[in-house]
Amino acid sequence: MTMIDRRTFVALAGAVSATGVLGAPSIARAAGPKVVVVGGGPGGATAAKYLRRMDPTVEVTLIEANKEYFTCFMSNEVLAGDRTMDGIRVGYDGLRKTGITVVHDLVTAIDGEKKTVTTKGGQTFAYDRCIVAPGIDFVYDSVPGYSAEAVETAPHAWKAGPQTALLRKQLEAMPDGGTFVMVAPPNPFRCPPGPYERASLVAHYFKQHKPKSKVIILDPKDGFSKQKLFEQAWARFYGFGTSNSMIEWVPGAKGGKVSKIDVATLTADTEFDAIKAAVLNVIPGQKAGRIAFDAGLTEGNWAPVNKKTFESSKVPGIHVLGDAGDAAAMPKSGYSANSQAKVTAAAVVALLKGKEAPEPAYVNTCYSIAGKDHCFSVAGIYTYDKEKNAIAEVPGSGGLSPLDASDADRKREVAYAHSWFRNIVADSWG
Ligand SMILES: Cc1cc2nc3c(=O)[nH]c(=O)nc-3n(C[C@H](O)[C@H](O)[C@H](O)COP(=O)(O)OP(=O)(O)OC[C@H]3O[C@@H](n4cnc5c(N)ncnc54)[C@H](O)[C@@H]3O)c2cc1C
Repeated sequence: MTMIDRRTFVALAGAVSATGVLGAPSIARAAGPKVVVVGGGPGGATAAKYLRRMDPTVEVTLIEANKEYFTCFMSNEVLAGDRTMDGIRVGYDGLRKTGITVVHDLVTAIDGEKKTVTTKGGQTFAYDRCIVAPGIDFVYDSVPGYSAEAVETAPHAWKAGPQTALLRKQLEAMPDGGTFVMVAPPNPFRCPPGPYERASLVAHYFKQHKPKSKVIILDPKDGFSKQKLFEQAWARFYGFGTSNSMIEWVPGAKGGKVSKIDVATLTADTEFDAIKAAVLNVIPGQKAGRIAFDAGLTEGNWAPVNKKTFESSKVPGIHVLGDAGDAAAMPKSGYSANSQAKVTAAAVVALLKGKEAPEPAYVNTCYSIAGKDHCFSVAGIYTYDKEKNAIAEVPGSGGLSPLDASDADRKREVAYAHSWFRNIVADSWG
């Protein structure tokens, strides 16, 4: 596979942004249609912002539980000590300035028949259409011994914020020579390359500050995203493949599946071993955020949708996007959520006017920083397959960074990654 062809990218990215033109400013009305957006991550924030941009007559209310949001993207750099918590913190004033009503409260119920959203604080909001982007919740018992309480001792740090700060503190306090044990999640989960980027950046931190320490990844899976690129980086920076490797990856086929953890002793049991951790990072299985279940939007662990409009297959008038939705073949990522949000906003604006939703295109790129000046990426551009109600990758449009890239290319991708981060934050919340 090759890096994305620039001309294809520009052409298709144009198709994505063209959806923004459709439904552009119409005649202002005293009271426009009401859209309530639940969740202010990259999915919900982008949907709210682009709804207003595509049709300023739409009254948009964004309901988000927290007053500030910490991005998971670049949170692994916080664990490495290369970025502060402030470097992943965003607020909601930018969205308020665009005329969105931002409410900080927890949504406890969505009534698809009455078309209302109710919050823990006792407020009720009527909607013409509702967009739900609550992200993920955890399937704690995918790792026996793990629980909602255990996260205080063995953090997942798979929702950024206090969990990221806690894991960083544990890494700082860890004695040199200790072992960082990561229990990797089963598929599907948010950010497929994320655990392996984390292992890389923790090793990067150890290499500088605790060189006798080790990283062990206990994985129920037998393979992972960008595996060859990661293994190449690990060999180069951390001795992977030698008896003195700083990173050990134990796949499911070789006993990587954890049968039990004991949070009191920070021990992870596998078929062959009981591994004692100095720092235990458990990333359990995942499912759609709770409100998606409570509102009857799920089937299995995720919310099925019409992939052209992201309207729920279960409850009409409600759209589900981002990590909570089933948007295969797109990976669960912040960039996917941002792209799906634009498609959803264009569809909602059209549907509110009784028009057909425009033909969508979707895009995703995930960068992984694996060592000093060393980054690679995977990119995909997708179109809608009406016959199958599927999101289909455009053949030859994306792909992986090449294995034989030069040092200069790898370093350039670090700059691209940081630039991507600034852009997505500005595009979603700015
Ligand atoms: C370590 C790590 C690294 C990552 N790196 C990248 C990367 O480099 N690139 C990339 O594209 N993606 C990355 N991701 C993935 C990315 O963070 C997620 O895919 C993305 O956050 C999903 O966005 P979302 O809007 O669907 O959900 P979320 O970001 O989880 O946002 C959901 C929001 O909804 C709110 N909410 C939930 N329920 C309610 C309720 N009932 N009422 C009110 N508010 C509610 C939550 O408080 C939250 O703010 C990474 C993830 C991790 C863990």
